[in-house]
Amino acid sequence: MGEWIETVTGKIPVEDMGKTLIHEHFIFGYPGYSGDVTNGPINADEALSAGTKAANAVKKYGIKTVVDPTPNECGRNPELLKQISEATGIQIVCSTGYYYEGEGATTYFKFRDSLGTAKKDIYEMFMTEINEGIAGTDIKPGIIKLASSKDEITPYEKMFFDIAAEVHKETGIRIITHTQMGTMGPEQARLLIELGVEPSKIIIGHMCGNTNIDYQRDTLKTGVKIGFDRFGIQKLVGAPMDEERINTLIKLLEEGYEKQIMLSHDSINYWLGRPLEMNDDTATLVKDWYPTHIFENIIPDLKSRGISEEIIKQMFYLET
Ligand SMILES: [Zn+2]
Repeated sequence: MGEWIETVTGKIPVEDMGKTLIHEHFIFGYPGYSGDVTNGPINADEALSAGTKAANAVKKYGIKTVVDPTPNECGRNPELLKQISEATGIQIVCSTGYYYEGEGATTYFKFRDSLGTAKKDIYEMFMTEINEGIAGTDIKPGIIKLASSKDEITPYEKMFFDIAAEVHKETGIRIITHTQMGTMGPEQARLLIELGVEPSKIIIGHMCGNTNIDYQRDTLKTGVKIGFDRFGIQKLVGAPMDEERINTLIKLLEEGYEKQIMLSHDSINYWLGRPLEMNDDTATLVKDWYPTHIFENIIPDLKSRGISEEIIKQMFYLET
């Protein structure tokens, strides 16, 4: 038997993941949402119905597994994910890890670092969740989430990279990352590999945030996988337009990198805190930011530009 991966409903052989979306959020909240519950109350029924709707929608396109790498402090909710999975039959992989310094909740581990225990604490957090389960449940993360800032991996963030690499070496768990505004992809890959992580077990996220082909090649040459995982997010959070993503992607496909690329949307199907309010211009730019956009719009576009079914298929399988 080959390798296994944990889903929120138990572990499965990696080859049973099938067609996969590598980066979607069933629920997400920027840290701080929990202070605004008076006007942005958390409605468990709404979260479940939004998640179930999203899971059923991607299922129609043959998706079997969704990876939800919501950081621990951004509203990660494994029990909700389990309910969505049981209601729809979609396999869901959740993560363990903290968000990048600029948008994560840093105070807790910075305080613990000042007392000298943060590294030990983070190691225990990863290992307990991986071996026993999250917060007293038997639901285990299938992947570690790491994140870095624009143009740097800060000392705070590096602490998580160091420990994740150690935990990977002990458990074999995969690693998925957040890169900020199209920076630090190659650096993240090299750092993790130097720390002893197997390149094929690393997914460098949000690589489609950078349209420079050398940046892409520099990362891909290390042997890692990359996420072109923000289709539908245009201009928001510094993202390029879909058309620019597609042009970059096609160049990489022409160079034969399809086995190292995964497509996804980084969609957020239920916001913790208040629902989003956007002006008309922003709303127009992100009108396609939903988890079936790739199937409805991007794949037809790729096909019309000569990309074959076989190559497109490769970009939905973690194991190729
Ligand atoms: Zn994300």
